[in-house]
Amino acid sequence: MLKLVIQKSGRLHDETVQLLQECDIRLPDGGNQLRIQARGFPLVIYLLRNSDIPRYLESGTVDLAILGQNTLVEENSNCPVLERLGFARCRLSLAVPNDTAYSGLNWLQDRCIATSYPGSLRRFLGSKGIQADIHEIGGSVEVAPKLGLADAICDLVSSGSTLFANGLKEVEQVLESEACLAAAPVLAQGDMTLVDELLFRIRAVLAGRQHRYVLLNAPSDQLDAICQILPGLKSPTVTPLAVPGWVSVQTVLRESEFWPIMGSLRKAGAEGILVMPIEKLIA
Ligand code: AMP
Repeated sequence: MLKLVIQKSGRLHDETVQLLQECDIRLPDGGNQLRIQARGFPLVIYLLRNSDIPRYLESGTVDLAILGQNTLVEENSNCPVLERLGFARCRLSLAVPNDTAYSGLNWLQDRCIATSYPGSLRRFLGSKGIQADIHEIGGSVEVAPKLGLADAICDLVSSGSTLFANGLKEVEQVLESEACLAAAPVLAQGDMTLVDELLFRIRAVLAGRQHRYVLLNAPSDQLDAICQILPGLKSPTVTPLAVPGWVSVQTVLRESEFWPIMGSLRKAGAEGILVMPIEKLIA
C-alpha cells in the first residue's frame, strides 16, 4: 500500500483531487479526515499543509507527494520529482516599487528584501554574488515596501495582478514552479511497481489533456496534402465517405499545434472539422 500526501486545502487541493479522480482513484468524502483510504488503487492519502509536505517526504514517512515544486526547492530537498503535473504554475520573482530606477541585480546589493521564501532567495542571490538583508515574513509580502519594511520583495507570481494592485514591478525571476509528483529519497522495491502503475495512469491523463481528437472530411484528391499537414500519432485513419470523391480523416493533435494546423487544413479543403477532448492517451 503506497502512502501519498497531498495538500489539505488551498491552491493545489482541488486540481490534485481532480487529477486523481481522472486516474480512477477516488477519495471517499472523509469530512475533516487527515488520512483517507483511496478507492480504485492501493493508496492511503494524507492531507497536510503544502509547506509541511517536504519534511514528511524527506523522512520517508510517506512514499509520494503532490506539491508545488517551489516548496521542494525552498527546503533544498533531495526528493526526486517523478512528473510535472501542469497545474499551479507560478514563478518566484523579485519585485520593486514601480517608481524604482532598477538598474539590474547590483541594485539589490545591501537592500532589504521581504519574502516568505528565504532559502530560495538566499541561494539565488548567493549564486549572483549579491549580499542583501533578507526579511522573512509569513504572508502579504506585497505590502512590505509600502509600509517601509523592505526595498523589494520576493514572492510567488502567477498572473501578476497582485503585484500590479500593489504598485510593484517584477524585475528578476528566481525560479519557475508547477505542481509535481515527488518521491521519498528511498522507496521499497515492492513499492516501485505500484509507483510505476500510478505514473502510468497519471501520464495517460496528462497526455490526454494535451491532445485533441480531430475528425474531418476532405476531397480525396486533397488527401496527400492533408496527410502532410497532420502530424498524428502514427498516421491518420482514412475512411471513404458514402459520397464518392470524399474521405473522412481521423487523427490526434497536440493542443499547442492545433490552431495553426486548423488554418492549413481549411486551406487544403478540409470541411466539417470535429474536435473532441481525449480522456486518456496511451501512445
Ligand atoms: P497555498 O498554500 O494554498 O497558498 O499554496 C501555495 C502553493 O501554490 C505554492 O507553494 C505554489 O506552488 C502554488 N502557487 C501557484 N500560484 C501561486 C501564487 N500566485 N501565489 C502563491 N502560490 C502559488
